Order: sequence, then structure tokens, then C-alpha cells
Amino acid sequence: MELYSGPINKLIEELAGLPGIGEKSASRLAFHLINMPKGKVDRLAKTILEAKEKVCYCKTCFTLTDQEECPVCRNAKRDKSTVMVVENSRDLAAYEKTGKYTGVYHVLHGAISPMLGIGPGDIKLKELIERLQDDTVEEVIIATNSSLEGETTAMYISKLIKPSGVKVTRIASGVPVGGDLECIDEVTLLRALEGRTEL
Ligand code: ZN
Repeated sequence: MELYSGPINKLIEELAGLPGIGEKSASRLAFHLINMPKGKVDRLAKTILEAKEKVCYCKTCFTLTDQEECPVCRNAKRDKSTVMVVENSRDLAAYEKTGKYTGVYHVLHGAISPMLGIGPGDIKLKELIERLQDDTVEEVIIATNSSLEGETTAMYISKLIKPSGVKVTRIASGVPVGGDLECIDEVTLLRALEGRTEL
């Protein structure tokens, strides 16, 4: 039975498709949106579209940015010989927030997951290897999550890079297993970075 009218159901359905939003939150948000003044809804819709249109990948590290190259890659003071590999732009932001990491990043936009059918070709791995072709990179720090997918990805990258002679390290596992990097406090992040070991 349809509880609400078509357009509301459709809105609830769209919202429920977003990560972390269940059926209950979706309907709460839908009714909130419907009750909002039209001007506010217009602004929200415009903001979403604008973000979608303007945000692109940094040509070097593939993080999300609104310019050809992100501020970290453009910064001449950053150490281009150290590349930290993270799963997404939120993990990059978590490390940036510590203000202590001086190297640059590479954003994979995902992790290898045979269970979900995500293979090496589905993340920005080829782009990482291409980046290592010029001799500026001396160390690759793998900072993928300590989930099964993150560990699988770390092992895969390590095997791929090691023959090239570039030093490959993995952040310490002080990070709780299955923990999302972005949820971990800065002290733990820094400890994990400092305690990294060579693979
Ligand atoms: Zn960049």
C-alpha cells in the first residue's frame, strides 16, 4: 500500500539510496524538505547541482577539487617524494587536519573488494603506477583502512610497486580494525603514521 503520494514516495526512495540514510531518516528528511520554504529548497537543489558540475579530480593525486590541481599538489612546500595512498578524499582531509603530514597524496576512490566485485581496475591504481614512473617518488605510504578490503588493497599495491625499488610502507595498525580513517582522532592518525613499517 502506498502510504504517501507519488512524489513524496519518490523523494523518500531517492534519499534512502544515499549512504547512511535508512528508510526512517529518509522520510524524516523528505517531510522536512517539503515543509521548507521554496527559496531554501531552490538553493539546496542549486548547491547540489553546482557542486556536481564544478568538482573534478585533481590531475595529479585524484582527490576531489574545483581546480585542475588541488591545493596540496600545487603547494611547492609539500614533499613530492612521499606519496600517501588513501581510499578517499575524506581520509585525505583527516590527515590534512593533523597539519603534520608534509608529503603529498594519491586518492584511490575505493578499495579492492572481490566480494563486491571491485577489482584493481575499478580504483585509481593505474594512475598511481603511472605517477611512479618519474623518479621523484621515494616512498609510498599505504594508508588504506584496516578493513579486509583495505588490507587486500595494501597487499596488492605493495606487490605491484616493490619491484620498482620504491620504498613501500604501511601505517601502523593502531587504527582499530574495520575503522574508517576519518572517524579516528588526530593523535591516533599521527601515531599510525609515525609507526609505519616497511612492507
Ligand atoms: Zn592533488
